[in-house]
Amino acid sequence: GYHKVLEENRKLYNQVQDLKGNIRVYCRVRPFLPGQSSSMSTVGHIDDGNIMIITPSKYGKGHKSFSFNKVFGPFATQEEVFSDTQPLIRSVLDGYNVCIFAYGQTGAGKTYTMSGPNELTEESFGVNYRALNDLFHISKQRKDTFLPLLVNTLDIHNSSQKGLAVPNANLVPVTSTTEVVELMNIGQKNRAVSATAMNDRSSRSHSCLTIHVQGRELASGAVLRGCMHLVDLAGSERVNKSEAKGDRLKEAQHINKSLSALGDVISALAQKSSHIPYRNSKLTQLLQDSLGGQAKTLMFVHISPEADAISETLSTLKFAERVASVELGAAQVNKESGEVKELRQQVASLKAALAKKE
Ligand code: ADP
Ligand code: MG
Repeated sequence: GYHKVLEENRKLYNQVQDLKGNIRVYCRVRPFLPGQSSSMSTVGHIDDGNIMIITPSKYGKGHKSFSFNKVFGPFATQEEVFSDTQPLIRSVLDGYNVCIFAYGQTGAGKTYTMSGPNELTEESFGVNYRALNDLFHISKQRKDTFLPLLVNTLDIHNSSQKGLAVPNANLVPVTSTTEVVELMNIGQKNRAVSATAMNDRSSRSHSCLTIHVQGRELASGAVLRGCMHLVDLAGSERVNKSEAKGDRLKEAQHINKSLSALGDVISALAQKSSHIPYRNSKLTQLLQDSLGGQAKTLMFVHISPEADAISETLSTLKFAERVASVELGAAQVNKESGEVKELRQQVASLKAALAKKE
């Protein structure tokens, strides 16, 4: 009875948000890790779209609820998480731009969601691998002709610097998931990973995987172009927590700057401001075409259940609520109709004929 009504409400809410083009926000709670005591969890009741956080007395005893498009509890499998992401990924092949990014403090599970754990099994494959598998699979099934996917792996370190965000020279054509995995491993090796006090696998850079899709609808001759960014963001925690020093601190501050630039862009979009400060960081420049209103955007926000993570957990969820309130307008297809294409070809052949005469 009651749960059904809740579920129906959630579906309706998601449909309305889709129409308005809101950024979708999925929240994922990491389970306690082996060896951790689960008696001190800050996560109370969870349902499909709501999460209640219990604040320990030190932080003012009470609880606070947050609503998102979807909430995944600590026992959600990688497959379950992906099944709610799949429709978005398929729309890349219909010519939409898609951006999926993972946000949260170091250790909350961003890399787990996007790539999987260190020791990968088929069940633990993350969104990246599943998305690519899907793209290859569907593009082979469909009658339309698809060119090989073009892939770009990029790590943004010094993100407060302005300048060209995407060196397109890195674009590599790929025909299978294995090739992409190899490319990503290369990217992994180049990443600035260092031991901080919080987590020795902590990563201080944003890691982006961009996939360009180009194809032609056989029936209409229309050219479709889609692009997908999969972004594993650097940790969102405040710098002092990780006791970073020297170069490490400098790097962390740069990263924080780019995350706050992301926050500024999202605020400006939420307020429908006439100036959106995309150019303030490489990250926001890279994501401009995905945050600018014609794309479908999904943010996974990750939280840790431990009591001592409570202040990061609350600030993460507040940020996520702000993101969820941004209306981008309905997404649009990058589609060139057969007619336009024909005209383009005519122009090209006329130009060629002219050139010959000269
Ligand atoms: P982040 O990338 O946000 O710093 P990680 O993805 O590296 O965090 O996760 C930290 C640790 O927790 C890793 O050992 C990871 O395997 C584990 N972990 C994260 N999320 C989950 C999950 N949903 N289920 C099981 N283990 C997880
Ligand atoms: Mg990580």
